[in-house]
Amino acid sequence: MKAEEKTHLKKAEDLTYNCVQCGYCLPACPTYLTMKTETQSPRGRINLVRMTAEGHITLDELSGPLDLCLGCRACEQVCPSNVQYGKMLELTKIAIHNHKKQSTSPFRRFCEDLVFKQIFTRKKVMNKLGSLLWIYQRLGIKKVAHMKPFNRLFPEKLELLDKGLTEAKPPFKRNDGRRYSSIGKRPALKVAFFTGCVMEAVFHRINLLSIRLLQKAGCEVIVVDGQTCCGALQAHAGDEETAKMVAKRNIEAFEDSGFDYIVNNAGGCGAMLKEYDRLFADDPDWSERAERFSKKTVDISVILDMLGFKPERTLSYRVTYQPSCHMTNVQKVTKEPEKLIRSIKGIEFIPLNNPNFCCGSAGIYNLIHFQESMDVLDVKMSDIKSTKADMIVTTNPGCLLQIKTGIAKEGLNDRIKAVHLVELLAEACGINH
Ligand code: SF4
Ligand code: SF4
Repeated sequence: MKAEEKTHLKKAEDLTYNCVQCGYCLPACPTYLTMKTETQSPRGRINLVRMTAEGHITLDELSGPLDLCLGCRACEQVCPSNVQYGKMLELTKIAIHNHKKQSTSPFRRFCEDLVFKQIFTRKKVMNKLGSLLWIYQRLGIKKVAHMKPFNRLFPEKLELLDKGLTEAKPPFKRNDGRRYSSIGKRPALKVAFFTGCVMEAVFHRINLLSIRLLQKAGCEVIVVDGQTCCGALQAHAGDEETAKMVAKRNIEAFEDSGFDYIVNNAGGCGAMLKEYDRLFADDPDWSERAERFSKKTVDISVILDMLGFKPERTLSYRVTYQPSCHMTNVQKVTKEPEKLIRSIKGIEFIPLNNPNFCCGSAGIYNLIHFQESMDVLDVKMSDIKSTKADMIVTTNPGCLLQIKTGIAKEGLNDRIKAVHLVELLAEACGINH
């Protein structure tokens, strides 16, 4: 083990000593509940990290159980000893990532760099991919691709995920650098909108609706040029270097512009942006700038609620709400989305029995660990079905796609609809785009 790996592992090990092995976290952990082994529980993973630091097992042996962790951080919320599981996981993933880098084949390293450094971090590339997806959806290719015999060309996981995708970004549509005035009155707030990479390319309509809602609530909205991906996917994969590189670009892009808030509409991205301060805690050149950025970051539901947003129309849906784990467990935004849903006239709200149980999406977990992700999703879908809701509201693109996948998997497309909170609020205000 190299010195750099040892340093990260040592820091992770230090965090494990708060664990008193009580096991209160086990029932909260989706992977423990679906896989039923101690090594796939928070306590088991904590012990494995300690065993690795003490030299009883290798980093390679540790990587399997750590890879299967969803990173949902539900365990942190129920831990009476305040074990910082998320921080421990992050540090360990960095050690594993650096360790694996040495033994990874040049081809695999090239592919990983291409995805994490060249695609997600470049808006132009993401937008082009979004446009290609839009053409695929709009020209009827998607329909044909899901018909027999062409559907055999799709692996099951891609077929299900593809069915769940909403309309991607049309070619030549640009948001960057645009300024949107508040509607009807003097701006109550001046906010910068964080577009995200996947959100802007694949869920573009939700971004446009978010801007409209903010305008309607009395905000002047600026889509800052130069912003990029939040870095969550890279950070969760242990690629600290790329995560810091994109975080610095975002901090620079949003800095010194007199915004009251930096608003986002994706629970996972928002959590990453909120933790930029932690990412740079040991870096004197960036820590203060990162802290300022994190303090200004808020989810759109918080701003709308703060401004007393009230939709005027009456809708008649039976709605349940699936909170994003990172919105609940990291951003600590819990009440506002539900409050906004309940404020719509005619809505019948039925809460989930276990809303804090992850849906199994977890960034790209559902692509890498498809079966494990589907096992977690099955538990979520059974909870959803028990509510008899005809609409599921989420606050994160990954959750939205995952729930849509669950609906398609259960053959419930004609009975249940999954939407982002912003889509429901826009419908309740008569806003279409
Ligand atoms: S709840 Fe906390 S202290 Fe108890 S086993 Fe889990 S991590 Fe350890
Ligand atoms: S982060 Fe989630 S999946 Fe991972 S150990 Fe904690 S509760 Fe389990």
